Amino acid sequence: MTSNMRLNKVCQHCHQEFIARTMLTRYCSHTCNRIAYKQAKRDQKLQSAIHHVSAQPMPVINYETIADKPLLNLNEAAQLLNISPLTLRRWLKAGKITSIRKGKKHLFDKRGLLQ
Ligand SMILES: [Zn+2]
Repeated sequence: MTSNMRLNKVCQHCHQEFIARTMLTRYCSHTCNRIAYKQAKRDQKLQSAIHHVSAQPMPVINYETIADKPLLNLNEAAQLLNISPLTLRRWLKAGKITSIRKGKKHLFDKRGLLQ
């Protein structure tokens, strides 16, 4: 769409003044538009990731049952170390911590965790 309209506008990305031809133009150039679009997409993705993580309920652990067990599951071990289960999984992957595998499950020796 072409028009004879000339509007002085300020680019929403680089904050420089430019002449827009439509009411809806927000950026001075394709480059600014593209960068701003990518940034918006990135923010959107981050927001949805934050929402996804915070939407997971923290498992409720009874400390008395932890005290009686020599082996703990992942959630209980995370609770004992006062870290999130996701952090514990990251530590496992990085080799900071070892576990006993039973099938798909990780079991943790409580004495080993507290050393
Ligand atoms: Zn610009």
